[in-house]
Amino acid sequence: MRSLEITGTTGVLGVFGCPVEHSFSPPMQNAAIKELGLDLVYVPFKVAPQDLEAAVRGAAALGLTGFNVTIPHKEAIIPLLDELDEEARLVGAVNTVVYRRGKLVGYTTDGYGFLKALSEEAAFDPTGKECLILGAGGAARSICISLGRSKAATLTIANRTKPRAERLAAEVARLTGVKSMALPLSGPALQDAVGNCHLLVNATSYGMYPKHECPPIIAEDWLSPSTIVCDIVYNPIETSLLRAARRRGCSVVNGCGMLVHQGARSLELWTGCRPPVAVMKRKLLQSLRERS
Ligand code: NAP
Repeated sequence: MRSLEITGTTGVLGVFGCPVEHSFSPPMQNAAIKELGLDLVYVPFKVAPQDLEAAVRGAAALGLTGFNVTIPHKEAIIPLLDELDEEARLVGAVNTVVYRRGKLVGYTTDGYGFLKALSEEAAFDPTGKECLILGAGGAARSICISLGRSKAATLTIANRTKPRAERLAAEVARLTGVKSMALPLSGPALQDAVGNCHLLVNATSYGMYPKHECPPIIAEDWLSPSTIVCDIVYNPIETSLLRAARRRGCSVVNGCGMLVHQGARSLELWTGCRPPVAVMKRKLLQSLRERS
């Protein structure tokens, strides 16, 4: 591995967000860039919502190689782009922007990262499976669309604010053709869904640092040992839900794999290189340990 050296030819990648200081992408992407020996550097850019358009124009003027966008820009960036990848169009959000033949092309890599982590860590294939997703925000939407496109049998979406779950279920059914239902985040119908699903995903921010000392988002004794339980929260690495699921004998998948694979896919889109996933994961875990 060579050390990162900035010269007159170094290309720039980055992430636009607000706030952006918390992002784990810079350490993870720069570790990958070093490993691959690429003449690139990945930088965080704090971009306020009202400055997004100027930042996108500026990025083109400065010749950035490509960039990620994170909260609050994932939807607002869409009208500023020339083309959208099919999945980004369905999800209605973008996290990766690529310059291609003078055009700005938007992608979302969250769904890819999610499926790749489940496949690698739990050998999970969504085809024909009953899936229960807790949450109806941006991450839940990406996950539902990717599970729907992968031919899951059913999607049940449970959310604290039930009307949001109803809207997402209706939309996912319309966009993917997969049977989708909505539930509140408590009660006997949820207990039944938890006990009978092949895959349970927490896509809410419940259990996230600094409010991580909390009971699991659903009752531990509702979980069946045959269910794969995934929590996309990555800080802490093991949430109270995953600890409960482990005690029940379930296979568990934490949020780190999704974060690494979505970043790896972005790097692949920008450079065409095969990303060093193990190096990225090691760096992410080190950064998480340093910050906790
Ligand atoms: P978001 O759009 O703000 O949605 C937040 C969701 O969490 C909503 O469904 C909200 O329910 C629910 N929620 C918040 N607090 C809750 C509580 N105390 N009890 C129950 N439900 C609660 O956020 P997002 O972008 O989808 O992100 C959600 C989580 O996923 C975050 O922790 C984020 O860090 C994580 N994430 C991880 C990855 C990864 O790569 N591992 C990628 C993206 C996101 P209401 O609708 O009722 O408000």
